[in-house]
Amino acid sequence: MEVINDNNCSWIKDLSPRNNIQTLSSDLNCEWLIIGAGYTGLSAARKLAQIYPNKKVLLIDSQLAGEGASSRNSGYLVDTTLNDGFTSNKDLENYKKKSDIYKLGIDAVKKFIKEHQVDCDWNECGKYFASSKVEDKRILENFSEILSKLNYEHNILFAKDLPKKLGTSFYNVALYTKGGILLHPGKLVRAMIDTLPQNVFLYENSPLLNWKKNNGIVECNFKNCSIKTNKIIFATNGFTKSLGIKANYNFPITLTASMTRPLTHKEFKFIGEPKEWGVLPIRPMGATIRITKDRRILIRNTAEVYNPYKMTQSDLKKRSLKQQIGIKKRFPQLPDDIIQTTWSGIVSRTRNSSQIFEKIEENIFVAGCYNGSGIGVGTLFGEQIAIKASKEHSKEIEIIEARNKPTWLPPQPFLDIGVRARLIYERIRAKSEI
Ligand SMILES: Cc1cc2nc3c(=O)[nH]c(=O)nc-3n(C[C@H](O)[C@H](O)[C@H](O)COP(=O)(O)OP(=O)(O)OC[C@H]3O[C@@H](n4cnc5c(N)ncnc54)[C@H](O)[C@@H]3O)c2cc1C
Repeated sequence: MEVINDNNCSWIKDLSPRNNIQTLSSDLNCEWLIIGAGYTGLSAARKLAQIYPNKKVLLIDSQLAGEGASSRNSGYLVDTTLNDGFTSNKDLENYKKKSDIYKLGIDAVKKFIKEHQVDCDWNECGKYFASSKVEDKRILENFSEILSKLNYEHNILFAKDLPKKLGTSFYNVALYTKGGILLHPGKLVRAMIDTLPQNVFLYENSPLLNWKKNNGIVECNFKNCSIKTNKIIFATNGFTKSLGIKANYNFPITLTASMTRPLTHKEFKFIGEPKEWGVLPIRPMGATIRITKDRRILIRNTAEVYNPYKMTQSDLKKRSLKQQIGIKKRFPQLPDDIIQTTWSGIVSRTRNSSQIFEKIEENIFVAGCYNGSGIGVGTLFGEQIAIKASKEHSKEIEIIEARNKPTWLPPQPFLDIGVRARLIYERIRAKSEI
């Protein structure tokens, strides 16, 4: 699966270009191979290299490391979620299992940034779930009950409180959770690349085309060469299905986001100089929107089944216009043409919003599919799948494995038809929130 960067993502443009990019060019044999160098693959590589300091760990990506969804997301490191997808787990026990995993994910990222002194614009400012529809208060009250039972600090806010905090009078009701961190996703993943242990060998722009197991050895074919490995971890997220892995349990969804230029001092004053904030939608297809610490506005208001994976410039432009409208609705006082970049990214979903973490065959492991919440969970699952693959144990693995497992999905074309229909339905429900 060849993945071509669209080179439009502000988070990536904020970083200095990397040098010393190695590409696979000759056949190799190894003991440990990881495919996919986002949060999951990078964390898995770091952990394996620590467990086996004298062994080589090969880490391969089809594009530049970290420049998939891991750099292209909205930067919410979440402790709780409201819209977990199509069949959200409503009951408390399942919700607790899920939020226990989020908590471990936050701990994993915190530990990493502390250990390596990473500056990734970390801000423990909490987050809002907000809607312009007063009737969505009912959803928030139900959510509030769950959060109270699990002791998550939060409060419900109304139209009179929100403009001062958010700089927009678009929202009429919101639930604020004290937990939740906003960060710069590109800086975080770049730090994970820069701090890879010396026994990790990273090869980029080297797509895995196909693989098979033969006499206990996994043979992986790339464009001009192949790798034979004893053990392999797939950390390919939205591309997992295309490699034939857990194909009836996950599917890719393409998201698009836009970022404005920094607001001028005057524009920022116009909107009341709010502190950095992040709003998640109450209705699943509504907009995710945040103001960054350097006064840029990020918006994501599309999610779609889009094949092939790479979005054309003209398709990006169409989505950018939608995002311009989304910004204008919330900030009518700002100029029309402030969007600086628009990019797409691929996430992986499962039917019941559960994640994939397992040994699929002897010496073949996979971790991924975080349903749009993978900053913390990806970091955690990467480390823990490395521990599992090394036949070691941890309390984190017990917690991860106690979660509900992903449920079976119908084959094509029924899957695509079902997903598209559901997305259309959710888009209609969230029309005012886009
Ligand atoms: C617009 C957007 C907004 C989001 N917002 C948030 C958010 O606010 N908070 C949050 O927690 N999550 C968010 N997410 C989701 C989050 O980005 C992902 O869950 C997370 O990046 C998953 O990390 P990963 O390492 O598993 O996958 P990825 O970062 O997708 O990495 C997988 C890697 O595998 C590589 N790969 C795939 N196929 C092959 C192959 N055949 N050969 C070699 N390499 C291959 C890819 O090139 C890629 O680099 C968002 C995602 C998007 C796109």
